[in-house]
Amino acid sequence: MKSFKRHLITSALPYANGPIHIGHLAGVYVPSDIYTRYLRLRGADVISICGSDEHGVPITLKARKEGITPQEVVDRYHELNKKAFEDFGIAFDIYSRTSNKIHYETASAFFRKLYEKGEFIEKSSNQYYDEEAGCFLADRYIMGTCPHCGNENAYGDQCEKCGTSLSPTDLKSPRSTISGGAPVMRETLHWYLPLDKYEPWLRKWILEEHTEWKSNVYGQCKSWLDQGLQPRAVSRDLDWGVPVPVEGAEGKVLYVWFDAPIGYISATKELTPDWEKYWKDSQTRMIHFIGKDNIVFHCIIFPAMLKAEGSFILPENVPANEFLNLENDKISTSRNWAVWLHEYLADFPGKQDSLRYALCASAPEAKDNDFTWKEFQARNNNELVAILGNFINRTLVLTDKYFQGVVPAAGDLNDYDTSTLAAISELKQAVETNLESFRFRQALAEAMNLARLGNKYLADTEPWKVIKSDPGRVQTILYISLQITANLAILLEPFLPFSMDKLRGWLNITDLNWDAAGSTDLLKKGHRISSGELMFSKIEDQEIEHQVQKLLETKKANEALNTTTLPQKDDISFDEFNRMDIRTATIIEAEKVARTAKLMKLKVETCIDTRTIVSGIAEYCTAEELPGRQVSVIVNLAPRNIKGIESKGMILLAEDASGKMTFMVPENKIKNGSPVK
Ligand SMILES: [Zn+2]
Repeated sequence: MKSFKRHLITSALPYANGPIHIGHLAGVYVPSDIYTRYLRLRGADVISICGSDEHGVPITLKARKEGITPQEVVDRYHELNKKAFEDFGIAFDIYSRTSNKIHYETASAFFRKLYEKGEFIEKSSNQYYDEEAGCFLADRYIMGTCPHCGNENAYGDQCEKCGTSLSPTDLKSPRSTISGGAPVMRETLHWYLPLDKYEPWLRKWILEEHTEWKSNVYGQCKSWLDQGLQPRAVSRDLDWGVPVPVEGAEGKVLYVWFDAPIGYISATKELTPDWEKYWKDSQTRMIHFIGKDNIVFHCIIFPAMLKAEGSFILPENVPANEFLNLENDKISTSRNWAVWLHEYLADFPGKQDSLRYALCASAPEAKDNDFTWKEFQARNNNELVAILGNFINRTLVLTDKYFQGVVPAAGDLNDYDTSTLAAISELKQAVETNLESFRFRQALAEAMNLARLGNKYLADTEPWKVIKSDPGRVQTILYISLQITANLAILLEPFLPFSMDKLRGWLNITDLNWDAAGSTDLLKKGHRISSGELMFSKIEDQEIEHQVQKLLETKKANEALNTTTLPQKDDISFDEFNRMDIRTATIIEAEKVARTAKLMKLKVETCIDTRTIVSGIAEYCTAEELPGRQVSVIVNLAPRNIKGIESKGMILLAEDASGKMTFMVPENKIKNGSPVK
């Protein structure tokens, strides 16, 4: 294998239109972090690069939907995600963003260089244009019926129902997502990267020279290459993005997939004035960590761009993962079907390693995999607590108890001792081999096998019994257990950085690096350690039930969104409407009606009078939060007796398909008794 002087690790730039979820973490950021930490432990020259991808149509669409600017959208999610990554211990050297000035300059210069070298094809074509909104409709600005599955809400770039990638002209009955109207065709000029020109080179570079790439990555590349590559547009008619730096290109920006990977270069520039040695020296090994949806961009398009530019190195490996599902359903930002990192960190304080462990242990490395809260709980309680935590705790507590926290000397070793010690270096080798091949699940399993070995060793040798008859023997047992513990502190550090940092502190071995692992005398006789505390704690059933409940509510809300609206009732006359007397009022007292689930007895100030009304809102709010709230009331509805209470009038509520109710309230505070009409 070729040897390298330094490593450049990139992690796919997350899109700044939503928070980070467990699918992102399992697919990209946990593996890239494990690998980066491993290289650092080896003392390698390594930098880890990431940042927010802040351009592209999903961001402008979200801004339009929320009535804010695209900059406000990306500011919100950049800050949220940057902090969540930091709090989760993802050790990027820089988390930059593609709206930075340095990125605009870098991306523009990159485009200019290719433009001046004549690497682009300039081509006019007809594209959909919204005459009412006065703009071209790129990608997701156009919707219509999918020609493959009939989904009426397919996008101009993809049908999310059947997964087919589309171009806008494939859609039947296209419509603009801005005005809703039918678009017209209009001619527009764009720049294309002729990928077909790079096809023979890509075939050789990937299919012959990188047969070591993961089979899911290699297979997808081969399938793209076998289909034949076409020129690909690198510009778009949009007003959000890096402007195309060519005269006469007003109103055009770089296609987000042209500018995003250049973001790795700009982030490196921002990080260090020495950036060129990481990008332009063949002694640098560049690794892209990505999800499977990005394979074509990182293995075909970006390498073709780098090759066209001419002065940059190419990736040595692109260890893409498949997708993680959640409770047997595809993770989706738009359907809110996800475990969001910032919410996990708030709900499980101090438990970063529990999630890192669960996500690595069932990472979708070779095929899609499923995350369930039950499995997460089992991984934490049955593996981290019961195996790893238990072994470390017993070793430290017994050393403290029998030897006052001082590492004892080993006496004569029996066969069991010798084979246990020999297993340490074998397991270290297994962890390392798997890490080097980007098989993180297996690497973690091998490291955990060392903890299993330690647990078994203690259970078999029973030092707590032997201490009475043979204290010398216990010295040997704990000496060996302590060597296993110290090795775990090193081997598990890339996977469980928070816990292993604590363990290193307790063992007083902050300076040991990866190469030290495997040896059987990491803790010398007489070395002082502290007794530590419990490293992991159990996750209780109710915490898991709370999370499952949250998902069930999401599911219910999604179902409610998808149900059809009730048909309109028969017409009434204006006079009939006018007979209803609806007024604004304020709730002054609230009390749940005993022995009912839904009913709340409310005292309401209408300005006409203060009256009692029974309302079916009790499942959706508490009595304490109601006083002071303004509502709308039909005041002339004939009084009714409900559960023995005379209810005078009715409070207006809106009810969705799932039965969820909410008050109809005046947008601004208004005098009680004001008519609603
Ligand atoms: Zn479809």
